[in-house]
Amino acid sequence: MSILSDRILNMQESATIAMAAKSREMKARGIDVISLSLGEPDFNTPEHIKEAAKQAVDDNFSHYTPVPGYLDLREAISEKFKRDNGLDYEPSQIVTSTGAKQTLANLMFCLINPGDEVILPAPYWVSYEGQILLARGKVVRISTNIDSDFKITPAQLEASITDKTKAFLFSSPCNPSGSVYSQEELNGLAEVLAKYPNIVVIADEIYEFINYTDKHASIGANPLIKDRVVTVNGLSKGFAMTGWRLGYMGAPKEIAAACTKMQGQFTSGTCAITQRAAITALNSHYEPTLAMKAEFLKRRNLVADRLREIPGLKFNVPDGAFYFFPDASAYFGKSYGNYTINNITDLCMYLLETANVATVTGAAFGNDDCFRIAYATSTDLLEKATARMKDSLSKLA
Ligand code: PMP
Ligand code: GLU
Repeated sequence: MSILSDRILNMQESATIAMAAKSREMKARGIDVISLSLGEPDFNTPEHIKEAAKQAVDDNFSHYTPVPGYLDLREAISEKFKRDNGLDYEPSQIVTSTGAKQTLANLMFCLINPGDEVILPAPYWVSYEGQILLARGKVVRISTNIDSDFKITPAQLEASITDKTKAFLFSSPCNPSGSVYSQEELNGLAEVLAKYPNIVVIADEIYEFINYTDKHASIGANPLIKDRVVTVNGLSKGFAMTGWRLGYMGAPKEIAAACTKMQGQFTSGTCAITQRAAITALNSHYEPTLAMKAEFLKRRNLVADRLREIPGLKFNVPDGAFYFFPDASAYFGKSYGNYTINNITDLCMYLLETANVATVTGAAFGNDDCFRIAYATSTDLLEKATARMKDSLSKLA
């Protein structure tokens, strides 16, 4: 019998983290692995943000902060929501956390009673499911595919609602599909949600700044439901600050207060230095962010060109985030040497072992036909990785 709790024994490890660890471990053994597994910008944090952090160290921001974050940071976030997204959240409705991952975990633990249902359009980000299950909720998946650009329709949303539905959670731009909902599409979903006043809507907008349509839309801007939309965001992706750990949300007051109470028992306020730097990030020009987006767009186009040369892959060119999510089911049942591809996880392991390219199985994102390629790496490595993938996949017969 294990000394560990059933909770942790039954929990799935994060597939993104597990694949990243596996490729690091192979690299440490001298294998030339190219990791397209972890979704994180390869850029460094912009200089003016780093300078603000250095100043904060010198200014002795070395103490515990208020649990939801410094007031001037929450004011900067409130202003950002208004300016960039047309959202109205007062500072008292804002909570900052140790990454958007914690923001989401706070929400799951504050909203879900055992058996409550959370609707997730699939594919969805891997940790949504892990966190919902930890909170003893139930995941209700809405399946999508390439033909619908991995987006759901209002009718699909309505069909998945029951009297146990607690929340509807989605990301746009989406991790892992890269799909982006327009304001019109979000309004269609909002019209359905308007009929069910007890459902909390959680919009994960962490890829806001990596949106090639140039029209980021927020469901919280829809007046029909704005009072029960939680908007989640963070600095990791748009400002290349994954290691700094700053996520935030705007939420109805009751939910913000609950998440603050929860966080007060787990981690308290996030890093004081990071919070000071975040004020500079949000109050300054976004030039480095826009430059990074332009670079991601070039890489997206490059990867699309290369993937088109691989006959067994079917995909849409994504409008946002830095992922491709190709359907590789054409390879199922094929073999090479000792390898047989029975499912999408086999395919990812085959690519890892024969091409030394790390990707993530779609099974972790609620889709059994596709796998995720993160293209947040240099064009040289992307050229090399796609060539290796093409070569390995061509051997399957
Ligand atoms: N939401 C989505 C959709 C993500 O891809 C990630 C991973 N970066 C997060 C939330 C969490 O981000 P972080 O904890 O780095 O703020
Ligand atoms: N969100 C990124 C990803 O999906 C980082 C890994 C993680 O936080 O799980 O790869």
